[in-house]
Amino acid sequence: MKKSMKAAIIMGLIAVVAVGAVIVRQYQTEAVFAGAEKTAAQKAQLELEQKRENLLEKADHLYRGYYYDEAIALLKSDPAMVATATGGATAPTATDDAITVKLAEIEKAKASLVKYEGPVQHIFFHSLIVYPELAFDGRGHPAQGYNMWMATVSEFKKMLPSLEAKGYVLYPLADYIEQDPGNPGKIKLKDIYLPPGKIPLVLSVDDVNYYDYMKPDGFANRLVMGSDGRVWTEVITPEGQVTQTRDGDVMPILDDYVEAHPEFSWRGTKGTLALTGYQGALGYRITDNLPQEAEWQQTVKTIADAMKANGWSFACHSYTHNGYFRDGSLTMKQIKYDTDRWIKKIMPYIGETNIYVSPFGVHFKKDDPKYRYIIDQGFQIYCPVDNSRRITVNSDNIVMPRVNIDGYSMTKRAAELQKYYFDVPAVLDPARPEL
Ligand SMILES: [Zn+2]
Repeated sequence: MKKSMKAAIIMGLIAVVAVGAVIVRQYQTEAVFAGAEKTAAQKAQLELEQKRENLLEKADHLYRGYYYDEAIALLKSDPAMVATATGGATAPTATDDAITVKLAEIEKAKASLVKYEGPVQHIFFHSLIVYPELAFDGRGHPAQGYNMWMATVSEFKKMLPSLEAKGYVLYPLADYIEQDPGNPGKIKLKDIYLPPGKIPLVLSVDDVNYYDYMKPDGFANRLVMGSDGRVWTEVITPEGQVTQTRDGDVMPILDDYVEAHPEFSWRGTKGTLALTGYQGALGYRITDNLPQEAEWQQTVKTIADAMKANGWSFACHSYTHNGYFRDGSLTMKQIKYDTDRWIKKIMPYIGETNIYVSPFGVHFKKDDPKYRYIIDQGFQIYCPVDNSRRITVNSDNIVMPRVNIDGYSMTKRAAELQKYYFDVPAVLDPARPEL
């Protein structure tokens, strides 16, 4: 082929391509203009529908978590949403659009709440066993103790759907009482209203201190503030790797469960953490005059604030957890020292509380001066351990017993736990040695 011919063909091809390109571009431009007109309306409609769906979804999440007024307010926050739902001017009176239907459903649910009259349900745990192979290996703290008084992560996770299916709804401990308006300084029980069939449940966790003795035995190391603003568990793996997890203790597990199952929690309620003080709080040694103390105190405060904003509350579990609470030798001087020290060393960082969770679940007589000392420091809700499931009201304080959920109760009181809470054999961790 001659050079000139080759050039001509190439030129020709270029011309065809160029013309073609112009035609295509023109066609595309027209299509874009036509499409733009069409999609402007379509897009607006689509956006509106998307917005409405998001609104309904958000409102439904609130509603499922018993935030009735908040869900109603949200649905009513943009009247245009309702108007366009059935397409225009006639719509505001429509009764069949999704938002109107949802509003009616929520109003009906809110009006159907009933006063709870059944037994008082307060269950408690200790920090969960993350690695049963370490807790039950016979090294470190005796395995028998963990086997009796602790539950494992896998057990706790299995209990939650069962508790929910039985109708339990996490309820705030502080909301069991209110000040008696007719009697200054006195308190009375506060009525609890829930949907028919629901049972208020208080959940507490004892000794959220991450004591030294537990460090080699497969528990979380401490609580930490995640970069996402949530509280995580710091867990050291058996291989020695430091990790942040969502299932190293009751707290993140329950947070995530309630996020996915808002109906298990009255208005975002989680539980109450009972803290001692002799080895700090939440895994931080804030009571030993260590060089990092100020920094750790701030960390504890940051974590506690985040948790309180997220449905958790805190309680005093004594400062020393000393054996004199259990053997009955406790003196007036000791209870004063213990209570005062907790108020001075722990309360500034976790915030004021009127809840006292007794060490060893100890009971006092209501007129015992040592008991009166605790009450007079502002602790109006006193929680010992027994399974009577009844509150005693003592004019300026209540006694609310708690039921331990652990290897001991799951083994020795299986029928009781089976009746009230969950299928024990299905929950019990096979990693447990025989008790
Ligand atoms: Zn304890």
